[in-house]
Amino acid sequence: MNFPKEKTEALLKLITPPGQNIVIVAHTNPDGDAIGSSIAWAEMLRTLGHTVTCIVPTKYPYYLEWMDGIDELVVFKTDEQGRAAKAVEKADLIFCLDFNTLSRLENLSDIIAANTSAKRILIDHHLQPAEFDVSFSYPDMCSTCYLVYALIEDMFGSEQITKKIAESLYVGMMTDTGNFAFSYLTPELFRCVATLIERGINIPELHNRVYNSYTEGRARLFGYCINRKMQIFEGGRVAYMSLKESEMRRFQFQQGDSEGFVNYPLSIKEVVMSAMFTQHRKFIRVSLRSKGNVNVNIFARKYFGGGGHKNAAGGKSFVTMEETIEHYVRSVREFVEEGNLDAE
Ligand code: 5GP
Ligand code: MN
Repeated sequence: MNFPKEKTEALLKLITPPGQNIVIVAHTNPDGDAIGSSIAWAEMLRTLGHTVTCIVPTKYPYYLEWMDGIDELVVFKTDEQGRAAKAVEKADLIFCLDFNTLSRLENLSDIIAANTSAKRILIDHHLQPAEFDVSFSYPDMCSTCYLVYALIEDMFGSEQITKKIAESLYVGMMTDTGNFAFSYLTPELFRCVATLIERGINIPELHNRVYNSYTEGRARLFGYCINRKMQIFEGGRVAYMSLKESEMRRFQFQQGDSEGFVNYPLSIKEVVMSAMFTQHRKFIRVSLRSKGNVNVNIFARKYFGGGGHKNAAGGKSFVTMEETIEHYVRSVREFVEEGNLDAE
């Protein structure tokens, strides 16, 4: 990956003077890529002599709890001591990882916006990024973790990648690519994985820790969703599933348990677009996935006030589950009529 020289030079200039207070923020409902890139970049900045605080708006899923360094993350939602606010207030630099606009931080965005002196630097791979002081926005890259890897390699050399950094980066790449099965699987990505192996990662172990560490409730909830809740329409090409709070309680739902469910309908040959609606206290979370040229980023922006990538996007709905599903079915019809499913 070749970054424009003036950009990496601008970044180096910002992070070279040691002893700075640096904040790293990642998106709400942080996933493997958000957490992995935060931990890895924080480690790198600490070796340069900075004090680094990583903040996430909400809790990470339990199957990432084993990650080295995850305990140091400040979860803004439950941060009663105000550690996040204090760190942001003091920050000389704020790194924004794995999201494209501050609104993806929910309530945390207010305190980030309140610090008007710190430079904000974006490192991200989502489409349609907002303006930042310095921006490393590469929507054609598989993950923010890959971008962090490429930045470290470019600026400091891959020898700087410790086992802890390598493991964190691998988790993000593995989870954001669906275990190296989705888009943006470049030769450079696999060369990067080769380097991470040289730095000591154990791929089967990391795979087991993330994908084979769920609860029994999660396994049964998955069966329930596929068997009882999956609906397929538009001549077999479009699917959706939904989960209400009462259903989640039945299966002792823990945050992160329904992650990945939305992909499963795409394992049916004819299905090219899939949605999952999960009820939260104040809204319904909408997750969208697609195959090939079907662009759910456009769909999420137009119908659910969200966004993301071409084949993986999301948004929110503020009406009831029934109304959300009706809106989805109607929107899909319009989307199909406009020819958006013909391009597969
Ligand atoms: P997930 O379905 O895993 O929550 O999200 C899939 C993709 O869509 C992620 O890349 C995520 O950043 C994006 N996404 C999810 N929810 C939202 C949202 O509310 N707004 C925007 N802009 N993007 C979202
Ligand atoms: Mn990501």
